[in-house]
Amino acid sequence: MKIITTIKEIKHAVSRVRAEGRIIGFVPTMGFLHDGHLSLVLESVKQTDYTVVSIFLNPTQFAPHEDFEDYPRDMQRDLDLLEKEGTNLVFIPAAAEMYPQGYKTYVEVHDLQDKLCGVSRPVFFRGISTIVLKLFHIVNPDVAFFGQKDAQQAIILKKMVQDLDMDVQIEVLPVIREKDGLALSSRNYYFNPGQRKEALCLSKSLKKAQDLIAAGEEGTQNIIQAMKAVIEAEPLAKIDYVEIVDSEDLSPLETVKKGCLIALAVYIDKVRLIDNIIVE
Ligand code: AMP
Repeated sequence: MKIITTIKEIKHAVSRVRAEGRIIGFVPTMGFLHDGHLSLVLESVKQTDYTVVSIFLNPTQFAPHEDFEDYPRDMQRDLDLLEKEGTNLVFIPAAAEMYPQGYKTYVEVHDLQDKLCGVSRPVFFRGISTIVLKLFHIVNPDVAFFGQKDAQQAIILKKMVQDLDMDVQIEVLPVIREKDGLALSSRNYYFNPGQRKEALCLSKSLKKAQDLIAAGEEGTQNIIQAMKAVIEAEPLAKIDYVEIVDSEDLSPLETVKKGCLIALAVYIDKVRLIDNIIVE
Protein backbone atom coordinates (compact mmCIF):
# COMPACT_ATOMS: atom_id res chain seq x y z
CA MET A 1 0.00 0.00 0.00
CA LYS A 2 1.41 3.36 -1.10
CA ILE A 3 1.18 6.34 1.25
CA ILE A 4 1.35 9.74 -0.41
CA THR A 5 1.15 13.21 1.12
CA THR A 6 1.61 15.59 -1.83
CA ILE A 7 -0.73 16.49 -4.69
CA LYS A 8 2.09 16.31 -7.22
CA GLU A 9 2.99 12.73 -6.26
CA ILE A 10 -0.57 11.40 -6.18
CA LYS A 11 -1.41 12.95 -9.55
CA HIS A 12 1.63 11.19 -10.97
CA ALA A 13 0.73 7.85 -9.31
CA VAL A 14 -2.91 7.83 -10.47
CA SER A 15 -2.05 8.93 -14.01
CA ARG A 16 0.18 5.85 -14.31
CA VAL A 17 -2.64 3.59 -13.07
CA ARG A 18 -5.04 5.26 -15.50
CA ALA A 19 -2.59 4.84 -18.39
CA GLU A 20 -2.67 1.09 -17.70
CA GLY A 21 -6.43 1.22 -18.31
CA ARG A 22 -7.29 0.35 -14.71
CA ILE A 23 -10.53 1.56 -13.09
CA ILE A 24 -9.89 3.81 -10.09
CA GLY A 25 -12.17 3.74 -7.01
CA PHE A 26 -11.99 6.49 -4.40
CA VAL A 27 -13.16 6.70 -0.77
CA PRO A 28 -12.75 10.12 0.88
CA THR A 29 -12.67 10.03 4.71
CA MET A 30 -11.72 12.14 7.72
CA GLY A 31 -10.02 9.17 9.40
CA PHE A 32 -10.61 7.36 12.71
CA LEU A 33 -12.02 4.60 10.59
CA HIS A 34 -14.76 2.18 11.56
CA ASP A 35 -16.72 -0.55 9.75
CA GLY A 36 -18.89 2.08 8.00
CA HIS A 37 -15.81 3.52 6.26
CA LEU A 38 -14.42 0.05 5.65
CA SER A 39 -17.66 -1.07 3.93
CA LEU A 40 -16.97 1.63 1.32
CA VAL A 41 -13.35 0.52 0.94
CA LEU A 42 -14.39 -3.13 0.56
CA GLU A 43 -16.89 -2.22 -2.14
CA SER A 44 -14.28 -0.18 -3.99
CA VAL A 45 -11.82 -3.08 -3.83
CA LYS A 46 -14.56 -5.37 -5.17
CA GLN A 47 -15.78 -3.09 -7.96
CA THR A 48 -12.62 -1.36 -9.18
CA ASP A 49 -9.00 -2.22 -10.02
CA TYR A 50 -7.27 0.34 -7.83
CA THR A 51 -8.59 1.80 -4.57
CA VAL A 52 -7.50 5.21 -3.31
CA VAL A 53 -8.56 6.32 0.20
CA SER A 54 -7.97 9.84 1.47
CA ILE A 55 -7.66 10.71 5.14
CA PHE A 56 -8.07 14.43 5.57
CA LEU A 57 -9.69 16.23 8.47
CA ASN A 58 -11.07 19.09 6.41
CA PRO A 59 -10.91 22.38 8.36
CA THR A 60 -13.28 24.29 6.03
CA GLN A 61 -16.29 22.16 6.97
CA PHE A 62 -15.99 22.95 10.68
CA ALA A 63 -17.22 26.22 12.20
CA PRO A 64 -14.87 27.77 14.80
CA HIS A 65 -16.99 26.51 17.75
CA GLU A 66 -17.16 22.91 16.40
CA ASP A 67 -14.99 19.88 17.23
CA PHE A 68 -12.16 20.19 14.65
CA GLU A 69 -9.44 20.27 17.34
CA ASP A 70 -10.94 17.40 19.37
CA TYR A 71 -11.96 15.16 16.45
CA PRO A 72 -10.52 11.68 17.19
CA ARG A 73 -7.42 10.65 15.25
CA ASP A 74 -5.40 7.41 15.05
CA MET A 75 -3.40 7.37 11.84
CA GLN A 76 -1.46 4.14 12.47
CA ARG A 77 -4.62 2.18 13.23
CA ASP A 78 -6.31 3.65 10.12
CA LEU A 79 -3.38 2.66 7.91
CA ASP A 80 -3.32 -0.90 9.32
CA LEU A 81 -7.06 -1.30 8.66
CA LEU A 82 -6.80 0.08 5.13
CA GLU A 83 -3.88 -2.19 4.28
CA LYS A 84 -5.83 -5.22 5.54
CA GLU A 85 -8.82 -4.32 3.33
CA GLY A 86 -6.69 -4.21 0.18
CA THR A 87 -6.35 -0.43 -0.35
CA ASN A 88 -3.76 0.42 -3.00
CA LEU A 89 -3.01 4.03 -2.13
CA VAL A 90 -3.69 6.30 0.85
CA PHE A 91 -3.56 10.06 0.37
CA ILE A 92 -2.85 11.98 3.59
CA PRO A 93 -2.30 15.63 2.70
CA ALA A 94 -1.49 18.30 5.29
CA ALA A 95 -4.00 21.16 5.57
CA ALA A 96 -1.51 23.54 3.90
CA GLU A 97 -1.23 21.17 0.93
CA MET A 98 -4.98 21.41 0.25
CA TYR A 99 -5.44 25.04 1.30
CA PRO A 100 -2.16 26.90 0.79
CA GLN A 101 -1.85 30.45 2.08
CA GLY A 102 -4.05 32.77 0.03
CA TYR A 103 -6.56 30.03 -0.93
CA LYS A 104 -9.74 31.68 -2.28
CA THR A 105 -11.98 29.26 -4.20
CA TYR A 106 -15.11 27.55 -2.77
CA VAL A 107 -17.93 25.49 -4.26
CA GLU A 108 -21.54 26.01 -3.21
CA VAL A 109 -24.53 23.83 -4.13
CA HIS A 110 -27.30 26.33 -3.50
CA ASP A 111 -30.59 25.52 -1.72
CA LEU A 112 -29.58 21.92 -0.98
CA GLN A 113 -26.71 23.09 1.24
CA ASP A 114 -28.99 25.37 3.30
CA LYS A 115 -31.50 22.71 4.40
CA LEU A 116 -31.42 20.05 7.20
CA CYS A 117 -27.84 20.05 8.58
CA GLY A 118 -27.12 23.30 6.71
CA VAL A 119 -29.40 25.27 9.04
CA SER A 120 -27.27 24.73 12.16
CA ARG A 121 -24.00 24.21 10.23
CA PRO A 122 -23.99 27.01 7.62
CA VAL A 123 -20.41 26.47 6.36
CA PHE A 124 -20.50 22.67 6.47
CA PHE A 125 -21.54 21.73 2.94
CA ARG A 126 -19.53 24.51 1.31
CA GLY A 127 -16.47 22.94 2.97
CA ILE A 128 -17.46 19.43 1.89
CA SER A 129 -18.26 20.34 -1.73
CA THR A 130 -15.00 22.26 -2.00
CA ILE A 131 -12.77 19.52 -0.60
CA VAL A 132 -14.51 16.73 -2.53
CA LEU A 133 -14.25 18.66 -5.80
CA LYS A 134 -10.55 19.26 -5.16
CA LEU A 135 -10.00 15.59 -4.30
CA PHE A 136 -11.89 14.50 -7.42
CA HIS A 137 -9.63 16.70 -9.55
CA ILE A 138 -6.52 15.36 -7.87
CA VAL A 139 -7.43 11.65 -7.75
CA ASN A 140 -9.48 11.60 -10.97
CA PRO A 141 -11.49 8.52 -9.94
CA ASP A 142 -13.94 6.58 -12.10
CA VAL A 143 -16.14 5.73 -9.11
CA ALA A 144 -16.35 7.40 -5.69
CA PHE A 145 -17.99 5.70 -2.72
CA PHE A 146 -20.00 7.52 -0.04
CA GLY A 147 -22.22 6.40 2.86
CA GLN A 148 -25.98 6.84 3.09
CA LYS A 149 -25.26 7.77 6.73
CA ASP A 150 -24.51 11.28 5.40
CA ALA A 151 -27.59 11.36 3.16
CA GLN A 152 -27.59 15.11 2.51
CA GLN A 153 -23.88 15.05 1.66
CA ALA A 154 -24.47 12.32 -0.94
CA ILE A 155 -27.40 14.24 -2.49
CA ILE A 156 -25.36 17.46 -2.68
CA LEU A 157 -22.29 15.76 -4.15
CA LYS A 158 -24.38 13.99 -6.81
CA LYS A 159 -25.85 17.37 -7.77
CA MET A 160 -22.39 18.96 -7.87
CA VAL A 161 -21.08 16.23 -10.16
CA GLN A 162 -24.12 16.57 -12.43
CA ASP A 163 -24.02 20.39 -12.54
CA LEU A 164 -20.27 20.53 -13.20
CA ASP A 165 -20.37 17.78 -15.87
CA MET A 166 -17.88 15.61 -14.02
CA ASP A 167 -17.30 12.05 -15.22
CA VAL A 168 -17.06 10.44 -11.79
CA GLN A 169 -19.80 7.97 -10.84
CA ILE A 170 -21.08 8.30 -7.26
CA GLU A 171 -22.06 5.14 -5.39
CA VAL A 172 -23.97 5.48 -2.13
CA LEU A 173 -23.82 2.50 0.22
CA PRO A 174 -26.08 1.57 3.19
CA VAL A 175 -25.67 2.81 6.76
CA ILE A 176 -23.63 0.36 8.85
CA ARG A 177 -24.98 0.04 12.39
CA GLU A 178 -24.07 -1.56 15.69
CA LYS A 179 -26.19 -4.62 16.62
CA ASP A 180 -28.45 -2.41 18.76
CA GLY A 181 -29.13 0.02 15.89
CA LEU A 182 -26.68 2.87 16.61
CA ALA A 183 -25.21 4.09 13.31
CA LEU A 184 -21.41 3.84 13.37
CA SER A 185 -19.74 7.24 13.63
CA SER A 186 -16.26 8.41 14.56
CA ARG A 187 -18.02 10.69 17.06
CA ASN A 188 -19.47 7.70 19.00
CA TYR A 189 -15.97 7.50 20.46
CA TYR A 190 -16.76 10.59 22.59
CA PHE A 191 -19.48 8.79 24.57
CA ASN A 192 -19.40 7.32 28.07
CA PRO A 193 -21.72 4.30 28.55
CA GLY A 194 -24.68 6.45 29.72
CA GLN A 195 -24.43 8.78 26.72
CA ARG A 196 -23.94 5.82 24.39
CA LYS A 197 -27.23 4.37 25.65
CA GLU A 198 -29.07 7.66 25.11
CA ALA A 199 -27.61 7.91 21.59
CA LEU A 200 -29.82 4.96 20.67
CA CYS A 201 -32.78 7.34 20.61
CA LEU A 202 -31.90 8.31 17.02
CA SER A 203 -32.29 4.82 15.58
CA LYS A 204 -35.21 4.11 17.92
CA SER A 205 -37.07 7.16 16.62
CA LEU A 206 -36.46 6.04 13.04
CA LYS A 207 -37.79 2.60 13.95
CA LYS A 208 -40.86 4.32 15.43
CA ALA A 209 -41.38 6.12 12.11
CA GLN A 210 -41.04 2.85 10.18
CA ASP A 211 -43.57 1.13 12.46
CA LEU A 212 -46.08 3.97 12.08
CA ILE A 213 -45.71 3.96 8.30
CA ALA A 214 -46.09 0.17 8.23
CA ALA A 215 -49.30 0.59 10.27
CA GLY A 216 -50.67 2.99 7.64
CA GLU A 217 -49.74 6.45 9.00
CA GLU A 218 -49.01 8.85 6.16
CA GLY A 219 -49.06 12.29 7.80
CA THR A 220 -45.49 13.49 8.23
CA GLN A 221 -46.37 15.82 11.15
CA ASN A 222 -47.80 12.88 13.15
CA ILE A 223 -44.72 10.79 12.42
CA ILE A 224 -42.35 13.63 13.33
CA GLN A 225 -44.22 14.24 16.61
CA ALA A 226 -43.93 10.55 17.54
CA MET A 227 -40.22 10.55 16.66
CA LYS A 228 -39.62 13.65 18.76
CA ALA A 229 -41.37 12.03 21.73
CA VAL A 230 -38.93 9.09 21.57
CA ILE A 231 -35.96 11.46 21.59
CA GLU A 232 -37.33 13.81 24.24
CA ALA A 233 -37.65 10.85 26.64
CA GLU A 234 -33.83 10.94 26.99
CA PRO A 235 -32.60 13.59 29.44
CA LEU A 236 -29.36 14.43 27.58
CA ALA A 237 -30.86 14.50 24.09
CA LYS A 238 -31.56 17.83 22.37
CA ILE A 239 -33.17 17.83 18.93
CA ASP A 240 -31.51 19.85 16.17
CA TYR A 241 -34.05 18.73 13.55
CA VAL A 242 -36.36 15.86 12.60
CA GLU A 243 -37.60 16.14 9.02
CA ILE A 244 -39.31 14.11 6.32
CA VAL A 245 -38.27 15.39 2.90
CA ASP A 246 -38.10 14.61 -0.79
CA SER A 247 -34.84 12.77 -1.36
CA GLU A 248 -33.90 14.80 -4.43
CA ASP A 249 -34.64 18.42 -3.58
CA LEU A 250 -34.92 18.00 0.23
CA SER A 251 -38.21 19.90 0.34
CA PRO A 252 -40.50 19.03 3.31
CA LEU A 253 -43.41 16.67 2.59
CA GLU A 254 -46.92 16.65 4.06
CA THR A 255 -47.43 12.95 3.42
CA VAL A 256 -44.84 10.20 3.15
CA LYS A 257 -44.09 8.73 -0.25
CA LYS A 258 -41.91 5.88 -1.45
CA GLY A 259 -38.25 6.87 -1.50
CA CYS A 260 -38.62 9.90 0.77
CA LEU A 261 -35.94 10.65 3.35
CA ILE A 262 -36.54 10.71 7.11
CA ALA A 263 -33.54 12.49 8.60
CA LEU A 264 -32.62 13.79 12.02
CA ALA A 265 -29.82 15.41 13.96
CA VAL A 266 -29.70 15.21 17.74
CA TYR A 267 -27.22 16.44 20.33
CA ILE A 268 -26.41 13.90 23.00
CA ASP A 269 -24.91 16.24 25.54
CA LYS A 270 -22.44 18.19 23.35
CA VAL A 271 -22.02 15.56 20.62
CA ARG A 272 -24.13 16.04 17.50
CA LEU A 273 -25.25 12.83 15.78
CA ILE A 274 -27.16 12.32 12.54
CA ASP A 275 -29.09 9.36 11.17
CA ASN A 276 -31.69 8.69 8.49
CA ILE A 277 -33.73 6.13 6.59
CA ILE A 278 -35.23 6.03 3.13
CA VAL A 279 -38.91 4.97 3.19
CA GLU A 280 -39.29 1.71 1.25
P1 AMP B 1 -16.28 10.75 7.42
O1 AMP B 1 -14.94 10.20 7.77
O2 AMP B 1 -17.20 10.92 8.58
O3 AMP B 1 -16.20 11.98 6.53
O4 AMP B 1 -16.98 9.63 6.52
C1 AMP B 1 -16.38 9.17 5.34
C2 AMP B 1 -17.39 8.36 4.57
O5 AMP B 1 -17.83 7.26 5.36
C3 AMP B 1 -18.65 9.17 4.19
O6 AMP B 1 -19.03 8.84 2.87
C4 AMP B 1 -19.66 8.68 5.19
O7 AMP B 1 -21.00 8.78 4.74
C5 AMP B 1 -19.25 7.23 5.35
N1 AMP B 1 -19.77 6.69 6.61
C6 AMP B 1 -19.63 7.20 7.86
N2 AMP B 1 -20.30 6.46 8.76
C7 AMP B 1 -20.91 5.47 8.07
C8 AMP B 1 -21.76 4.39 8.43
N3 AMP B 1 -22.14 4.17 9.69
N4 AMP B 1 -22.19 3.56 7.45
C9 AMP B 1 -21.82 3.77 6.16
N5 AMP B 1 -21.01 4.77 5.75
C10 AMP B 1 -20.56 5.61 6.69
